[in-house]
Amino acid sequence: MNAAPAAKPALGTVAIIGVGLIGSSLALALRRSGLAGRIVGCTRSAESRAKVQQLGLADAATQDPAAAADGADLIVICTPVGTYEDIARAIAPRLKTGAIVTDVGSVKQAAIRDVGPFIPDGAHFVPGHPIAGTEHSGPESGFAELFENRWCILTPPPGTDQEAVETVAGMWRGCGAMVDVMDSRHHDQVLAITSHLPHLIAYTIVSTASDLEQSLKGEVAKYSAGGFRDFTRIAASDPIMWRDIFLNNREAVLDTLQRFTEDLTALQRAIRWGEGEVLESMFRRTREARRSVIAAHQAGTFDPREPARSEATPPAPGKADPPAE
Ligand code: NAP
Repeated sequence: MNAAPAAKPALGTVAIIGVGLIGSSLALALRRSGLAGRIVGCTRSAESRAKVQQLGLADAATQDPAAAADGADLIVICTPVGTYEDIARAIAPRLKTGAIVTDVGSVKQAAIRDVGPFIPDGAHFVPGHPIAGTEHSGPESGFAELFENRWCILTPPPGTDQEAVETVAGMWRGCGAMVDVMDSRHHDQVLAITSHLPHLIAYTIVSTASDLEQSLKGEVAKYSAGGFRDFTRIAASDPIMWRDIFLNNREAVLDTLQRFTEDLTALQRAIRWGEGEVLESMFRRTREARRSVIAAHQAGTFDPREPARSEATPPAPGKADPPAE
């Protein structure tokens, strides 16, 4: 008896535009899942393209987003958010009927604003954001397990083709992620507090320390395991990516920052007036927050470059979780 023909890969040709940390991890996870028939990688620099080929991340590599999108069934934009409009304008004329465009950007209202208007009739745009990452960048930093047990949020605007949403959700589930659907404005507000503000604080602390006089700086680096080290890790995240996040989620970040500043002032006051019970009660509440993160299995990311650590166990003193973004 003849064997049944192998099932056609569900996603067909997938074009990954921007093969950095997220794009390369997606390529590896898709390869492992067998969901993509063919992967085309698009990067700006020749150096990154050479790495894409050397690491076997894609079947073909190009520097032209339009060429990558030509004939693709699914196009995943994995570049910094500030590049979206140019990329959308470039790929739009080459999108075939039924093509689905999605993205991984950390800000969703701006993605809809910059990509949405260019999507032609008959093609679909399903904005997405995997809540997974490390502070590393580039094609060599990706790993197939990055999205495992992490959430991926889709923010399809009202009226988005439901089948297209299901296809993108299926891609992320195939990469090991769990999928949630929410409104883009809500997404941007949630991420402002869970990701954008923590990065802003880390950038500020590290920058303040860097501005201290040379002698103190030496001491800061030497004794960094007291907490500072964890901030330096987050503050090592890609400058362009984070510039674009703050410029494109301005309203929600400024809102959150205002509340944070008020809380900081209250803490300052408690310290000034020796109100130990105020400090203690706040620190007890924040300890609970850590427990709920662990309970939600979102306490750590498997990164082959990091020493193995169970998700349920907190990091060793001074050892940071990789940032989620
Ligand atoms: P990355 O490692 O720095 O990679 C960025 C990729 O985009 C590279 O392939 C780069 O090409 C390409 N690129 C950069 N500027 C470009 C431009 N002007 N035109 C065309 N291509 C350009 O970045 P990433 O960490 O993967 O982040 C990519 C996206 O994922 C961002 O939108 C970010 O918000 C989102 N995201 C990041 C994380 C995270 O933790 N890193 C988590 C979730 C979502 P070259 O290598 O040739 O320069």
